[in-house]
Parts: sequence; structure tokens; C-alpha cells
Amino acid sequence: MEDKDLTQLIATLPAELTAILPQLGVAAQAKGYRLFLVGGVVRDLLLGRPAGDADIIVLGDAIDLAKSLSPSLGKLTIHPAFGTASIILGNTRLDLASARTENYAHPGALPTICLGTLKDDLRRRDFTVNTLAVSLNATDYGRLIDDHGGQGDLRAHLIRALHEHSFADDPTRIWRAVRYEQRLGFNIEPNTLSWLAMGIMGLKNITGNRVWHELAGVLREDAPEKALVRLSKLGALRQIHPILRADSWLAEKCQATRALGTQSIPVYLALLTYRLKNSEAEVLADYLHLSKPLRRVLQNTHDIKVKLPVLGRYGLKSSTIYQMLHGYAPESLETNLVASTSPQARRNIMFYQNKLRKIKVSLKGSDLIKLGVPLGPHIGELLQRLLESRLDGQVTCRADELSLAKTIAACYTPQPS
Ligand code: ATP
Repeated sequence: MEDKDLTQLIATLPAELTAILPQLGVAAQAKGYRLFLVGGVVRDLLLGRPAGDADIIVLGDAIDLAKSLSPSLGKLTIHPAFGTASIILGNTRLDLASARTENYAHPGALPTICLGTLKDDLRRRDFTVNTLAVSLNATDYGRLIDDHGGQGDLRAHLIRALHEHSFADDPTRIWRAVRYEQRLGFNIEPNTLSWLAMGIMGLKNITGNRVWHELAGVLREDAPEKALVRLSKLGALRQIHPILRADSWLAEKCQATRALGTQSIPVYLALLTYRLKNSEAEVLADYLHLSKPLRRVLQNTHDIKVKLPVLGRYGLKSSTIYQMLHGYAPESLETNLVASTSPQARRNIMFYQNKLRKIKVSLKGSDLIKLGVPLGPHIGELLQRLLESRLDGQVTCRADELSLAKTIAACYTPQPS
């Protein structure tokens, strides 16, 4: 089994990647380094799934190797603190890292890292299916290295941790196990599942930043609700916030947003937190250290949600709908569009999204000044009035706007006595 040759499979990787491999091999050989393709890319190659970014382990100095490559290959970024380098190659990314070994001072702590062998590097990984490596060295190019039974678990569709302390060492692996399980349609192996269940409380020991990294990973999946529902059942979501849950309601809403053509992390996040009170969502946002734009989406989603009872009324004027929905993040509108139970509120949101938000006034402030409107707040008020008239269909063209503006301007302009 150890001698399986993946040369032909490697050739199916994106062209930007396969093009760089020979140059990497030559550079590594000149320095006496050895190279291995490892992790998710090997897993996906064997599964016949499109491979994402590629990770390469270097038995040698990864940064030194990356720097020796021609700069024309792609944008190089060095991370000295981690001893790693990334090269952006068109739509893919190649990560080079020196082989390492890890030690955890206490459960949930970030590991201390030292240089190690290939075996060390594979042993520190999360699941057997991610421990597969392929040699990129001229002498045994394409040879598959399977120290932990990864191939067998790929065939058996199992996500298996390498040892019983895996989740205690790093509780983020709970998120990762579920993400792979649901993405690949695998099962978490029974022993692994019991270790995972015992490790759930450990999620409390990790920083919100790390949880967000994993949560964002889940939200990037094609159907994030699958992993969210599973994580919820396993009790992992409760560790982030005591009343956070994912259930059939959430699953249905996530599917509904995709049916509308949206696949967006902010919308999924806003749906996940939709049923929290505003104050609870704020606590969660603080804990996860969410970015300003994401916090805005959550806040806007809440602000629109409280308007839904009014938005659900029949016969609202277009200008009223506009006023109620104008200025909010588009993702918040989309979230409420799928989350609202009122068909009329949904119609009004769609009407705003598809029509009202695009309506503009043709006249500018300068046109109004020419008509004699005095500088100052009147200009803004009049433009607002023109917009409302446009929205409600009382004016339909520039000429209509001009005649309405003239009538109103006459009220502002001092009349000759
Ligand atoms: P994806 O397909 O989602 O990108 P990936 O397997 O490439 O998945 P990454 O998060 O890019 O995953 O990580 C690259 C590799 O690093 C993994 O395949 C795994 O071997 C290892 N790894 C990542 N995170 C951990 C972790 N928390 N513990 C142990 N190994 C990890």
C-alpha cells in the first residue's frame, strides 16, 4: 500500500500548481531538502474531488526554499513567526512549511512548535484522512506515504482522530471533524466520536478568535447548515453562546437563501444568530471579535427584524417602504427576506431590493439653487421630497421633477412685494 504512485493524480492538479512543482523540486534538490505534498490536497486527489490550496512540507528551510524561486511564479508572502511561506498562483495558493512537531502546554493552548521529521509532522495532524503525504522528490516522485491508515479511512468514509487526547489538545478539531464529516458525507468513527463528546467542554478554553476561524470555515461550506445542525446536536454551539442553536428552521432558511442565489458568510451568520436577542448577539459578536462589517450586518438584521410587523402591512406607500429599508446592508435585507414569516413583508423587501432602491432623482442640488432655493437645509429637504414623489409615482421624469421643484421653490423664495 505504501508504494502507491500518485504521479498521474498529481498531474490533474490545477495547471498553475503543476507548473511550479518541477522548479520547486530542482530548487529543493540543490539545497538537499526533501518535499512532500500533504493534507487536504492529497485527501481530495484520492477522493477525486477538486483540490483546493496545496500544502507542501519541506524537510529543510521552507522560507529559504520559497525565496529561491523565481519571483515571476506568483506573489510570495513570508511568515517568519511560523516558518512558512505562501505563493499565490492564479486562483490557488501554495503553502510551504518546514516539517514540525508540536507540544501542548495545557489543553486548548496554542502549541509550541519545533522542527521535526515528516513522521512528526504527520503525527501532529487532526485526522487520518489528512495525514496522507506524497513525495515530490525526483527519486520517488508520486509515492504515497500513509503512516496512519488514511487510505483505509477514506475508503471506509471515516473521520478518525489520531489519538484519544486529540480534542483535549485542540478543541477546534471538534469543529473540523464535523466540517469534514458533513462535507464529505463521512461518519466520525465511533471512538473518535466518544473522544469528541468528552472534549466538548474544552471549547470553552479556546479564544473567540479561534472559534470564529472555525465557524467561518463552516460558513464557507457549500451547505453549512449540515455541520451547524450536527455541531448543535453535539452541544458545540452551546459552548459559544448558551442559547445558540441550529435546527430544522435554520437548515430551511439556509437552503432558502441559496435558492435565491445567495451563498454568503454574512447571511449565514445572520441567520444563525437571528433568533438571539440583540444584546445576546452583541455578546457573541464581542466574543468572536467579529469585524465591523459583520457586526453591522447583524445589527442591521436586528433593526429590520423589529420593523417586520409594520413591513408586513398591506398598502404601504413605496416611499414608506423605502424609508424603512434604506441604508441597511444588503445581506441584512436578504436575511430578513428568508427569515420573515409574513408574505407581505417579504414582498415589500423584494420590491425594495428589485425596484425602489434603484430609483434616483434626476435633479441635483445645483439645479435647485438655479431655481432659487436658498442654500442650506431646504436643498436636502426638497431633494428628499422629490425622491418620495418619484417613489410614489407622482413624478416620473425630469420635467415632472422640475415643475414640482419650481412649485415648492416658490414657497422658499421671497416673493416681490
Ligand atoms: P480544506 O479542504 O477545508 O481547506 P484542509 O484539509 O486543506 O481543508 P486546512 O485547514 O487548510 O485544511 O489545514 C491544512 C492541513 O493542516 C489539514 O489537512 C490538517 O492536516 C492540518 N491541520 C489544520 N488544522 C489542524 C488542527 N487544528 N490540528 C491538526 N492538524 C490540523
